[in-house]
Amino acid sequence: MRITKKVFLDLAIWMVAFGLSIGLIFPWFVILLGVPRPIAIQPGFYAACLGAGALAGGVNFAIARWVVAPRIRVLADGMHRVEIKLRDMNGTSDVDMCTYEDCAISIDSEDELGESARAFNRLVDTLANTLKTQDALRSFSKMLAGTLELNPLAQNSLDMFLEHTGSIGGAVLYDAGGEMKVAANRGLKNPTSVAKSDHVKMALKSGQPQHVGIPEEIFMDGVLTDFRPQEIFVLPASYKGIPLGVVVLGKTKPYQAEEWIRLELFRQSFGLALNNALTHERLQRLAALDPLTGVYNRRFGLGRFHEEFERAIRSSTPLGVMMMDIDHFKSVNDTYGHQVGDRILKSIATLARSVLREGDILVRYGGEEFLAILPAASSEDLRIISERIRRSVEDSTVREGDQTIRVTLSIGGASYPHQNVEKESRLLQLADDSLYRAKETGRNRVVISN
Ligand code: GH3
Ligand code: MG
Ligand code: MG
Repeated sequence: MRITKKVFLDLAIWMVAFGLSIGLIFPWFVILLGVPRPIAIQPGFYAACLGAGALAGGVNFAIARWVVAPRIRVLADGMHRVEIKLRDMNGTSDVDMCTYEDCAISIDSEDELGESARAFNRLVDTLANTLKTQDALRSFSKMLAGTLELNPLAQNSLDMFLEHTGSIGGAVLYDAGGEMKVAANRGLKNPTSVAKSDHVKMALKSGQPQHVGIPEEIFMDGVLTDFRPQEIFVLPASYKGIPLGVVVLGKTKPYQAEEWIRLELFRQSFGLALNNALTHERLQRLAALDPLTGVYNRRFGLGRFHEEFERAIRSSTPLGVMMMDIDHFKSVNDTYGHQVGDRILKSIATLARSVLREGDILVRYGGEEFLAILPAASSEDLRIISERIRRSVEDSTVREGDQTIRVTLSIGGASYPHQNVEKESRLLQLADDSLYRAKETGRNRVVISN
């Protein structure tokens, strides 16, 4: 029952009142013990009993206050310290709110006060972890918002997954039309084999994280990883229920509760960002590629040519270009129809692509004309490669029903540096002139500008 608004004042009143009550009762009590009534019931003795009762109540209160108040003060000071820290860090990203030494309070009793101190310490710990998670998620979202390209997005995301979940390595894999491809890798020895594993398939199918305890001998065989994870987690990333990819993470010790929370929060945001990056990539591909042959379209190809020409000037390295035109293609169309003509166009693009090197650029320049840009190719290199392409087209056939169709290709080429070339358009012009000469001098041949 509360008397005033102050607990310690209430306690004092109760204790003094209790002392006074004892003082009141005490003279009657001593009568029961055999003290003669005239001695017990007299003002002096009564007053002494009341005084002693009041004094005992007062001393009791003082001792209780001396024992309890400092501990409550410690609790209050601790809370105050945390409050100031929280206020100071408001709006900043400094989440090292309190170290244990800073903010925890010592627990020196096994009672309600001790339990309060323990609960306070747990609260500080939870608060610090929540702030850390909040900050981690903020930086993760910021990174996601600023990265649209697939590979940097996957790499940055993986790094943050590792940093904030105590994982020691992992990879990001994405679904490229039914085939899992690696977009980022940190420490997995053979991510392609991980991509094919049943756990990845299961994670994608179920939409649920998969936990894989890795037996040590698998690691010893070097099938999975460069290090010794005791377990691997495969986390699916999806958008609107559509599975898009997985994040694979290796751990050496079990996840803490807050690491799980971060993992789950990251995973959800990552699904949306991965979807954006994949859409972006698809759109870029659509904008750059010719839909029939799958090689670069003219607009994108000329952009790439411009870049390569600038690079050739800067680095004083050669740059070869070749123009290819199918011979008498109109009559092929007229004889076999446009659809067969389209199939031939596709097969020529595939043949040319297979002869060209990795860094070469193949462009559908016009209807049945292709342009190839060959960084570092001299006139002599051009002649050899052009001849190879010409011959592979000459040797190949396209079947239509019981008919076998053959076409030939005329190729004109020119390579920078060239005495007449200062501008990129001039290099193209020279290649075009060479193509014209190849046509004029009989077709199915290669002419390289000298
Ligand atoms: P030349 O040996 O002089 O090159 O003779 P040509 O008949 O090939 O003449 P040209 O280079 O002018 O060829 C243009 C023909 O290419 C016209 C058209 O029938 C065909 N063509 C252009 N684009 C396409 C296409 O997308 N599909 C198909 N099937 N044919 C195309
Ligand atoms: Mg033509
Ligand atoms: Mg032609």
